[in-house]
This record gives sequence, C-alpha cells and structure tokens, in this order.
Amino acid sequence: MFESVSRGGLWRQVVAGVAAVGMVAGVSVAGAQTDTAGSGAPEEMKKSPKTVLITGANRGLGLEFARQYAEAGWMVIATARRPESATELNAVGVRVMQLDVADAKSVAALAHDLDGDSIDLLINNAGIFPRVGTLTETDFDDVLRTYEVNTIGPMRVTRALLPNLREGRGKTIVSITSGLGSIEKNTSGRYYGYRESKAALNMFARSLATELRDEGLICVVVAPGWVRTDMGGPNANLSPEESITGMRAVIAKLTIADTGTYWDYDGEPMPW
Ligand code: NDP
Repeated sequence: MFESVSRGGLWRQVVAGVAAVGMVAGVSVAGAQTDTAGSGAPEEMKKSPKTVLITGANRGLGLEFARQYAEAGWMVIATARRPESATELNAVGVRVMQLDVADAKSVAALAHDLDGDSIDLLINNAGIFPRVGTLTETDFDDVLRTYEVNTIGPMRVTRALLPNLREGRGKTIVSITSGLGSIEKNTSGRYYGYRESKAALNMFARSLATELRDEGLICVVVAPGWVRTDMGGPNANLSPEESITGMRAVIAKLTIADTGTYWDYDGEPMPW
C-alpha cells in the first residue's frame, strides 16, 4: 500500500467544518494572520483577494488545489512545466505560468516575471515518485532526480519567491510532503529515494520555520493522504476533492504558533 489512511470519523468532522465555514474557508486561512493585521474581514477579502501560487498544477492534487482556491475566490497562480499542453488547468480560468522546479533557470524566470507581486500562500506541491521496492532495485539516478524535484525544488522555489511572500498578507509556505516521509511511522520500509526526499523536505520546512518565525512567516508540511491521482493510483482511498478539501481546512487554521509543524490532510498532527 502506498499510504494508509483510515480516519473516516475525523475526515467527516473536517468536511463538516469546511461546509460550515463555507466558501471563504480558504480565505479565512490566513484569516488568523490578517486579523492580526486588522484586515481579515470577509468583505475586505472580497475587495482584495489573496494570492496562492501552486507548483505542479496541471494534474493531480495541484490541479484540484487550483480549482478549489479559484472557487473560493482566491487569485490563483498555477504553474505547470508545459502550460501550452495543460488543457484541464487552462480550463479552470486561473493564471498559468511555466515552472519546472528542477530547473534553476525556470525558477529564476518565474521569480523575475512575478517581481513586485505579493503572494500570500505558496504551495510546493510538485513531486515525483519512482516506484521502487528494495535497495537492490534502486536506481541512484532516480534517487538523485527525486531529491532534485521533491526536496531541492521546494527549497529553490521558496527562496526565489521569498520577497513576494514577505510582501503578502498571508505569509504562508506549505510544502506537500507524505506519510512516507515520517521516520517514526516507517515500519514497512521500501520506496528508497522517495521516503528520504520527503523526510529531507520535512527537515527543510522545520529549519525554514525557525529562520522565518520572527518575520511572521508560517512554514509547515502537510501530507495529502493516499489519493487517486496518477501518483497514488486507482486503489487509493481518497479522491483529490476529499484530500484538498481537508488540506485547505488545515491551512485555513494555521497561525504563527503552528510554524514548523507536520500535518495529515485530516487535521491530525503527524509524527516526524
Ligand atoms: P501526480 O503524479 O498526479 O502529479 C505530479 C505533479 O507534479 C504534476 O503536475 C507534474 O507535472 C508535477 N511535476 C513533476 N515534476 C515536476 C518538476 N520538475 N517541476 C514542476 N512540476 C513537476 O502527483 P500527485 O498530484 O498525486 O502528487 C502531488 C504531491 O503530493 C507530490 O508532492 C506527492 O509527492 C504528494 N503526495 C501524493 C500522494 C498521493 O497519494 N497521490 C501521497 C503522498 C504525497 P507533469 O505533468 O509535467 O509531470
């Protein structure tokens, strides 16, 4: 099994909570932060929507993030490696920009194009999962590529967009990790390269949280559960809609007190 998640009860609570908050659930996300700044009222949000930038948004979880945040009234900057062939994403009606997180030039070009624009929420979502089992089957070029995309990618993108995040009201950096990145929960092994890439991503987020805390920037990692995407496969127990609704509810509640934390999609804290 790729990721096991079986918290139906908690899941229903999250969905109920989101339904109760309604359309502005995502907007209130940074509600706690903007309240502090005195500008978090829903009316204010309607006049001046917040901006989220999502990496790897042409399919899977990134695409669903783009759909849901757009529906909730956010300004969405959705990135894709090949925007011209991102048909489903282009149909969402959000701003689509080119980004390959493993390509330093592509990251620099995105930062250049966004120079001076504020970003409230960065979602480092792009990732790859080479399906390997035992150490003997492991291809080290695949391992390096996985680190490049899953670990260094979020580091590179976050650094490049820090000026934009500092200008934003939301000041939130969310990196999509995995339950497979939890050292404590690792009782089944395998998936060399992927597990380590996500554990390293977790460590990056924790270090960055420490570095940026005094500036009021919130930095967390969230695991999406096991989800029916190209990566998760058809047997996963969650739909993208369920996973993203849950993760948006988690993000909506974040305050600076949560910086440096690791969450499951259903609002449960994850063990490192
Ligand atoms: P998919 O394989 O369905 O989609 C991956 C996305 O990442 C695609 O948009 C892909 O773009 C993009 N991507 C891959 N490489 C790069 C790159 N170098 N630069 C920019 N974008 C890139 O995966 P999911 O949507 O399921 O996964 C999203 C995140 O959730 C990942 O970080 C993954 O590790 C994590 N996750 C997913 C789980 C699941 O069950 N689905 C479980 C745990 C974690 P392209 O189409 O161009 O390849």
